[in-house]
Amino acid sequence: MIHLMPATQLREAVASRRLSVTELARAFLGRIEACEPHLKAFLTVQPERVLREAGEIDEALGKGEKAGPLAGVPVAVKDNIITRGIRTSCASKILHDFVPPYESTVVKKLRQAGALVLGKTNLDEFGMGSSTENSAYGPTRNPWDLERVPGGSSGGSAAALAAREAPLALGTDTGGSVRQPAAFCGVVGIKPTYGRVSRYGLVAFGSSLDQIGPLARNVRDAALLLQCIAGHDPCDSTSAARPSQDFISELGGPVRGLRVGMPRQWFEKGLSEEVRKPVEAALQRLESMGCRLEEVDLPHTRYGLAAYYIVAPAEASSNLARYDGVRYGYRNSSHQDLLEMYRATRSQGFGAEVKRRIMVGTFVLSSGYIEAYYKKAAQARQILSEDFRKAFQKVDLLAGPTTPTPPFRLGEKTANPLEMYLSDVYTVTANLVGLPALSMPCGFTPENLPVGLQLHGPHFSEALLLRVANTLEDDLSLQPPQSAIDRN
Ligand code: GLN
Repeated sequence: MIHLMPATQLREAVASRRLSVTELARAFLGRIEACEPHLKAFLTVQPERVLREAGEIDEALGKGEKAGPLAGVPVAVKDNIITRGIRTSCASKILHDFVPPYESTVVKKLRQAGALVLGKTNLDEFGMGSSTENSAYGPTRNPWDLERVPGGSSGGSAAALAAREAPLALGTDTGGSVRQPAAFCGVVGIKPTYGRVSRYGLVAFGSSLDQIGPLARNVRDAALLLQCIAGHDPCDSTSAARPSQDFISELGGPVRGLRVGMPRQWFEKGLSEEVRKPVEAALQRLESMGCRLEEVDLPHTRYGLAAYYIVAPAEASSNLARYDGVRYGYRNSSHQDLLEMYRATRSQGFGAEVKRRIMVGTFVLSSGYIEAYYKKAAQARQILSEDFRKAFQKVDLLAGPTTPTPPFRLGEKTANPLEMYLSDVYTVTANLVGLPALSMPCGFTPENLPVGLQLHGPHFSEALLLRVANTLEDDLSLQPPQSAIDRN
């Protein structure tokens, strides 16, 4: 069955001409058609375009063109990543009809690697949320239990993978939006080091925190996707002056002797037993593979969430000022003057959570409050960096849970934004400090819901994280239960 094959195998099958890209595209489009009524993982799929582009790749390969590292592999792209000629809505009403005239660097790189852009996936509006319930176009559901959320904000990308609607997907992570949905949907997700992947064409949310990251159904596929999108980009002034790396060839290295830190603060109260058990079991496996487990301290962890929910809204309030109804997107048409037009457009175009962030962000930056809030949060970031710097003097990487609980029910946290924010408690610090972090499946709860293990490493240690994750994935060889979407 084509839709069950890993991306690396699909690529080989295409490169050796055992499968055509058109056959492959048909298989995934069929799967999307079957699953979407239950899931709503995609906001835009254009089958004719996908089949036309598949045909073009087939033709080029037929003429003897060299097969790229992602030849013919379909990739689902989160809808806050710019795609030239394909609507990019950020799941917001304000960009409901925005068709970008240019290409993001990541999508350009995907195309250069031979990949097929399959469609655009659902998200919390502009990436603001942890459940995909803040999409202006309705929530995505979790393929393991359709009454539960897939996480967010890259919930559409994670759900599409878990339902096998796509073999690879791109997400974005400002405070956990790749890792938390990866954990909730039982897939692998990576938040690269800040600057590792170009942000050119990523619709900005929190510019000092945002990174695009790969989602995949196994570690090797995630490594493949990361190596195709990483690297310096002159179009992004914050992009690191580092070339990409052959992450795949480094997967096989040894893990024996590595020191793995377990931050005490990640296992304290608030962590549910259903998550703790599989995470601790996975850590034991690392130990039996020859890693040395050590307890470490990240004493200022408790400031992470508060700092994040000041910095991210502050940057968002400034980034979202551009949606004024003048240049692109939605515009209210019944206005008397310019100010009224701004007000009506923004009141109607943005959803409740986005407005909340804009208000919080404007407040913490306003004169008289900036010292008390924004500057304090910036200081907390420094202190957190110190915590990690000290921890990495003792250990090679850190391991713990990705989320405090398994996937929650739709509607369970929508009435209380603070509760929703708490689900990011283990993920936001990596963004504040710019570190790479990875989430991988490590087991299932008694209710058959996936649980994620999270690894953090020093800046630019993606290869190490992938190597450890790959070895652990082999060792665990999880046998997932049948998912709800397959029972349907
Ligand atoms: N859930 C977090 C938030 O709502 C993180 C979002 C993200 O990483 N894009 O801000």
